[in-house]
Amino acid sequence: MTTVTDPSIEFLRREQRLFIGGEWVSTGASLSTLNPATGEVLAQVPVAGEPEVDAAVEAAERAFRIWRETAPTMRAALLWKLGDLVDEHLEELAVIEVLDNGKPIGEARAVDIALTAELFRYYAGWTTKLSGTLYPNSIGDMLTIGRREPVGVVAAITPWNFPLLEVAYKLGPALAVGCTVVVKPSELAPLSTLRFAHLVEEAGFPAGVVNVLIGGPEIGAALVKHPGVRKIAFTGQTATGKQILRASADDLKPVNLELGGKSPNIVFADADFDKALAGAFGGIFFNQGQACVAGSRLFVEEPIAEQLVERLAEKARGIRLGHGLAPTTDMGPLISARHRERVQSFIDGARSDGAEVVAGGAAATIEGLEGGYFLQPTVIAGVSNTMHVAQEEIFGPVLSVISWSDPEELERLANDVAYGLAAGIWSSDTAKAMRLAERLEVGTVWVNTYGMFDVSVPFGGRKQSGFGRELGPEALEPYLVSKSIWVDLQPTRQQSGQSIGRS
Ligand code: NAD
Repeated sequence: MTTVTDPSIEFLRREQRLFIGGEWVSTGASLSTLNPATGEVLAQVPVAGEPEVDAAVEAAERAFRIWRETAPTMRAALLWKLGDLVDEHLEELAVIEVLDNGKPIGEARAVDIALTAELFRYYAGWTTKLSGTLYPNSIGDMLTIGRREPVGVVAAITPWNFPLLEVAYKLGPALAVGCTVVVKPSELAPLSTLRFAHLVEEAGFPAGVVNVLIGGPEIGAALVKHPGVRKIAFTGQTATGKQILRASADDLKPVNLELGGKSPNIVFADADFDKALAGAFGGIFFNQGQACVAGSRLFVEEPIAEQLVERLAEKARGIRLGHGLAPTTDMGPLISARHRERVQSFIDGARSDGAEVVAGGAAATIEGLEGGYFLQPTVIAGVSNTMHVAQEEIFGPVLSVISWSDPEELERLANDVAYGLAAGIWSSDTAKAMRLAERLEVGTVWVNTYGMFDVSVPFGGRKQSGFGRELGPEALEPYLVSKSIWVDLQPTRQQSGQSIGRS
């Protein structure tokens, strides 16, 4: 097993504190965060209450007055430095992520932490490129300027599946445009965000520009309701997103919602078989299936369905479950015992509905890790698109296979789900794949690939997968508001009471 690096252990042994207004703050309450591979307590973390929520938002409000005036070149330098610091601490952060979340170390390094570092450098570049507009007008001697201003204090509320990366998705663009942020990571995997807060401090950001609170739904809800918060950036379950949207309605706070998915991964019989097999397999089993973009509904054209299912089942049985730090581990545990029970209930439901579990289907016990929340990678064949297992987000290593023969029916079925996050298409006929890609009601389509991400390419959902975009230039927009400024250049023009409009 990879040895747990000293800095990670040293960090986990420290007394954990909240980060508010540049200070490290203890509170009277705490929660235990568990290692999902063992079920053992990893660390105690302080839990925020209403006073800490108030203090964090007030600190962010004070810092906003400084940060929005900070020269873009300076904001760029700090964001770039933060990206470099994340890179310097890549191994330490990756190990913390593995211990708190359970994912394999290779994925934590290459995806979670490497992308976090890149993302801060990408948005560092944007600080100096945000321009306004000079609008034309028909009045004469009148300057009409369009400014784009930072919206103010942002509450960033994030899930546990990519704990630090999800925080970075929001922080990068928000900080680049001049907003300040109160972050509330998931209570199930908060440690990487707490470690990251030390890097924010080391980078030299002004106090209060980034604040970190730990707590459960009630702290998220308190942030949503806080009058000092001007924008809510949320990633999590669709049901939670709906609650947040309702709660934000009273004071009309703008909200970004990145929610669940039930993505179709569509294989045509003319696809490169091995490539499609690898794409179907990685599309569902990456991150233990705990990915919003998981290709959890595999639509396979009938002539190759049996063969593809057989090969997928064989590959699923070959997945080596284990501790995320062990070099032989392909897949780690699920996040919690409760989540594993929920995933299991979907598998049991599929059996009762008449589908066939052809691989996995039960909890797994790993020698030496008996307390871990492991689940066998599961492939279910004979699924129809109306079954619960095909309609609801399971968020685990469970693949539902639906075979099809009529392309028009396929298009209807692929869209016939509440979600609209992503989709995959596998075919050697690119024109055919493109035609289908255009008709899928989703935010991202991958053709002959699956699950690709890049800091420059926007990502987000449609339908009940939410709205708003993260990554790329589009991610800057939710944190900006526009303002029109009129400047009269004609010194002699008189404005009378009756002349609102034109004079
Ligand atoms: P969750 O909705 O249970 O929790 C997410 C965050 O919201 C946590 O920090 C939680 O404490 C907080 N929260 C819970 N109830 C709240 C409330 N009423 N008000 C304010 N905050 C509240 O989600 P989860 O189980 O942590 O994450 C898994 C979900 O996230 C999946 O549905 C997955 O698809 C989704 N996800 C989506 C994307 C995307 O980009 N679309 C990316 C990653 C994960």
